[in-house]
Amino acid sequence: MVSLLRTSLAPVGKAIAAQHFSTAAVLSNDSYRFVVAGGGAGGLAIASSLARKYGDGNVAVIEPSDVHYYQPMWTLVGGGEKTLQDSAKEMSKLMPKNATWIKEKVEQFDPAQNLVYTSDNRKVNYDYLVVAMGLQVNFNKIEGLPEALEDPASGVASNFSPKYVNKTFELIKNFQGGNAIFTMPTLPIKCPGAPQKIMYLAEDYFRNKSGVRDKTTVMYNSALAVLFGVKKYANSLWKVVERKGIQVNLHTNLVEVMSKEKKAMFTITNPADNTTTNKIFDYDMIHVSPPMGPLACLKDSPVSDANGWVDVNKTTLQHMRFPNVFAIGDCSNVPTSKTAAAVAGQSGVLLKSLESVMKGEIPAEKYDGYTSCPLITGYGTTILAEFDFNAAPLETFPIDQGKERTSMYYLKRDIMPELYWSGLLRGVWRGPGIVRKALHAGLKN
Ligand SMILES: Cc1cc2nc3c(=O)[nH]c(=O)nc-3n(C[C@H](O)[C@H](O)[C@H](O)COP(=O)(O)OP(=O)(O)OC[C@H]3O[C@@H](n4cnc5c(N)ncnc54)[C@H](O)[C@@H]3O)c2cc1C
Repeated sequence: MVSLLRTSLAPVGKAIAAQHFSTAAVLSNDSYRFVVAGGGAGGLAIASSLARKYGDGNVAVIEPSDVHYYQPMWTLVGGGEKTLQDSAKEMSKLMPKNATWIKEKVEQFDPAQNLVYTSDNRKVNYDYLVVAMGLQVNFNKIEGLPEALEDPASGVASNFSPKYVNKTFELIKNFQGGNAIFTMPTLPIKCPGAPQKIMYLAEDYFRNKSGVRDKTTVMYNSALAVLFGVKKYANSLWKVVERKGIQVNLHTNLVEVMSKEKKAMFTITNPADNTTTNKIFDYDMIHVSPPMGPLACLKDSPVSDANGWVDVNKTTLQHMRFPNVFAIGDCSNVPTSKTAAAVAGQSGVLLKSLESVMKGEIPAEKYDGYTSCPLITGYGTTILAEFDFNAAPLETFPIDQGKERTSMYYLKRDIMPELYWSGLLRGVWRGPGIVRKALHAGLKN
């Protein structure tokens, strides 16, 4: 096989424009101008844009899965409003036609040599790398949880996996009353509103569909100190939990599930002195949102920070040490809420940063931290939370988005999936920034 000679990029102290890229002398199958690691929301958004612009042979996507899931739909799958099939499409149908799909896992990064190593021991060479590998859901960090999730009689489910999301609706449908517990771990997790959304759907189901609400205690046991990280929406959510009679236990972190006895152990932290005590709760059903963290191959990787997240400039998404490396989405250390909405907001900025670097310029476009969480509060109502790096609302519509609205529920249920499949993954939806500017400008005129 002929090899490709490229100028390797030495690490630099700060994010700067890349220099000295040789164009491909001789192309081999394992050398690409752009390599995208991961074909999830962010990976496909970027690969689609690049493949459309630069054409055949220039873009490779390294992605091991046959199926791509629209994960934001899993809340509605757990709540019985959509099916798991609705949230899935074959990866082959979503891969950009003129990109090369390398159906392997990335195992190692060697950014000083512009190389990634894959699970079939291949070396893949790139001019520019975009890391978009998502995060790892750590069910195994809760004692007893992996076994409980597998056991159909355990009363334990989780929307955070396609394997267990159907079990959530089974539990809700068949619930006969007792303690229904919904957990929230420490951050970061993807979509920090998701642990609450499924609780509000379940509560609504018990109250208005199965009629078991008056013999049920609904409990939200959260490791966090607040109900939601943005004050405006937290205020609204406190009204929701009060109206629905939901018990909220903050600083209460799930550590063990004893599913044979239907008990769960939580560590409760006293915020005054940080002392902890353990408390066992009886449950009749429990929905677990498990801890999450970086993928194993990113921990201790040269592209990661000390915590294992890809180390990028939070506004340009360019790597802090390797100027031809970028990251998008859940795998990065960008300090915003990890959501598909954030991915949409990041995608346009990343592409502009990449183009600047290709021209030898300093990236100028700035990501503002835009992220969004459609906080479903029942069947037919949603608070559309949208905010930035400073946890300040950054709302698309010129109305009070802190209110529960039917319109936002249908936006979440019926319109957002289409925006995802036909917009984001095709690289044509870069978030609602333009819509927001137009609507708000219209209001000022
Ligand atoms: C229950 C639930 C509810 C949610 N609700 C919302 C919501 O309402 N709104 C919202 O905006 N977001 C929501 N999200 C979050 C959203 O789905 C994620 O933030 C988004 O998918 C992140 O995109 P990503 O590209 O970073 O990662 P992903 O979309 O997870 O993609 C990562 C890809 O990397 C691949 N990969 C993994 N390991 C490797 C490897 N070693 N090599 C190569 N590829 C690899 C994976 O197979 C996957 O295809 C929700 C998520 C869940 C689970």
